[in-house]
Amino acid sequence: MPKMPGKHWIFSFLKMKNRRLILSLIIFGILSVFVASGWFTWTKSNPQPVPRFDGERALKDVAAQVAFGPRIPDSDAHEKAVKYIQSELAAAGWQSTVEMAQFGGQTALNILATRNKKTPTLILGAHYDSRLYADNDPDPVNQTVPVPGANDGASGSAVLLELARSLPVDSIPTALLFIDIEDNGRIPGWDWILGSRAFAANLPIAPPKAVVIVDMIGDADLNIYMEKNSNIELTRQIWKTAKSLGFEQAFIPEYKFRVTDDHVPFIEKGIRAVDIIDLDYPYWHTIQDTPDKVSAASLQIVGDTLLAWVRNYGPCLTLQNCNEK
Ligand SMILES: [Zn+2]
Repeated sequence: MPKMPGKHWIFSFLKMKNRRLILSLIIFGILSVFVASGWFTWTKSNPQPVPRFDGERALKDVAAQVAFGPRIPDSDAHEKAVKYIQSELAAAGWQSTVEMAQFGGQTALNILATRNKKTPTLILGAHYDSRLYADNDPDPVNQTVPVPGANDGASGSAVLLELARSLPVDSIPTALLFIDIEDNGRIPGWDWILGSRAFAANLPIAPPKAVVIVDMIGDADLNIYMEKNSNIELTRQIWKTAKSLGFEQAFIPEYKFRVTDDHVPFIEKGIRAVDIIDLDYPYWHTIQDTPDKVSAASLQIVGDTLLAWVRNYGPCLTLQNCNEK
């Protein structure tokens, strides 16, 4: 009787010298299928994490800017800061242009960044220049020296850079504005907020629904009071958002100062704008305004608050009343 062909084949196969190798390969193949399907299930249930605002990374942006030297007009440090900001924006997927504009006899190099070619509903802004003279320094010798501008200049633009990295792509259309020559008031030939005045006087984009300025928000001892020139509704929304995140100690829900800052030119044009600023900073306009006075935790608080505010209130900025949200 002839042997069954199949039986003969299996028998021969098992008798083969290298059957261990072949069996190992089969087991390996089966295991590979399991591992691959497990990985697929895991990645499906664990999508790529949403980028989060990283205060430590923002603090590195502060140190990088200060390391260039004082970012005063026509200086190498200023030029390096512009290049740094633009390259960090590009790495985060933003397109930026340097908007050169004149105001008060001075030339501003404002950096405007957008991401999706849509008309921005919102501008998030901060000045990146630093003051020409540390005229508030207790030592008269230092009063003709430029300020390092760690908190006053670098902290706000560091928060903007980290927002560029962490703001979800599907957020409301947002522009980031790095503002030049904000900080030379009370110096002959200069004034405060020349860069934002130049920008607002020749808006290169359609007027946004809201402008939020951050300035001096890196102080390790963070006390941000409501500011009296700011739009009341936006102020209420932002301070309420901070409270909901447990940041009421930093965002104090009381009015304290009236500040001529980069929000004012927008308000004067009828655009709602708010200034987030901590003026209780003992090193203001001194040579002590160095990165060691700035903390990652403070940058984190401001970044997290702005991300949450954009997420919660952004979609209703185009509406009349989203205050009760
Ligand atoms: Zn200043």
